[in-house]
Amino acid sequence: MPLPSDTASGGRGVALVTGGRRGIGRAICRELAARGFDIAVVDVVDDDSGRETVEMVRQAGRKTLFRQCDISDTGSYSALLDQVEGNLGAISCLVNNAGIQVPVRGDLLDVSEEMFDHLININLRGTFFLTQAVARRMVAQTAPAAERSIITITSANAGLVSPEKGPYCVSKAGLSMASQQFALRLAAEGIRVHEIRPGLIRTSMTADVYDRYSPLVAAGGICPMRRWGEPEDIARGIATLATGAMPFSTGDIYNIGGGMQIHQ
Ligand code: NDP
Repeated sequence: MPLPSDTASGGRGVALVTGGRRGIGRAICRELAARGFDIAVVDVVDDDSGRETVEMVRQAGRKTLFRQCDISDTGSYSALLDQVEGNLGAISCLVNNAGIQVPVRGDLLDVSEEMFDHLININLRGTFFLTQAVARRMVAQTAPAAERSIITITSANAGLVSPEKGPYCVSKAGLSMASQQFALRLAAEGIRVHEIRPGLIRTSMTADVYDRYSPLVAAGGICPMRRWGEPEDIARGIATLATGAMPFSTGDIYNIGGGMQIHQ
């Protein structure tokens, strides 16, 4: 369940959440709305699930809109950000959540350029340039919100080799460095930049491995806490960072995976 709002009337500014129509992104939208953010829900698909997310935000009493955008389409950012700012106001929090995983079926030596480029264009290139576009606007804000942050979801696989997910691991490791580079550039501007590395979370992204991994998880393999994470586990971490509860943190990496990174 979402945590209660930190303020009586909210008013923490505007959060833009990519990949917000379902999964972890939807939980983030709901949690940040409960903490007083107005929410721009951005996703590549415009369907009923996006409208459901928007409705959840409205029920939390916050302003919201849905905008269809493929984050690998760098030429679409200007119109997207104009629409968000025009309807909701200046962006105080960017959550880079959208991402894809393409399993490597077979050998890493057979990975095609087409598959690699598709994955990199969304997970790394698109996220990098959207961050750049939002950061430029945050820096230019004449009356900046007290709290401004950029939070990027990478993965435990940003630091763990996986034979089934080679290009995905490469994209998330690159994104981790991008997050730290932006943190360095933006620290003096008062904009905090964080990275969250989820472990195994129950969403459509992991549906195809759920049955195979679950006995291992229950036995303490993969995850020392012996359970799957829920999208809300990640959303609560995002909310902690977005609301400024960690004001002296930037460029830091937060693992939220039940101890997956310390698994022996
Ligand atoms: P889901 O596939 O459930 O949700 C991802 C969302 O991002 C979907 O709504 C998807 O749209 C959207 N999206 C995909 N590509 C684009 C694009 N080009 N532009 C805009 N939106 C896009 O995944 P999760 O919620 O599980 O994952 C969220 C993030 O967390 C991802 O970055 C993922 O890599 C990361 N992560 C997830 C883990 C897990 O165990 N689930 C573990 C570690 C990291 P559509 O439905 O059309 O594809």
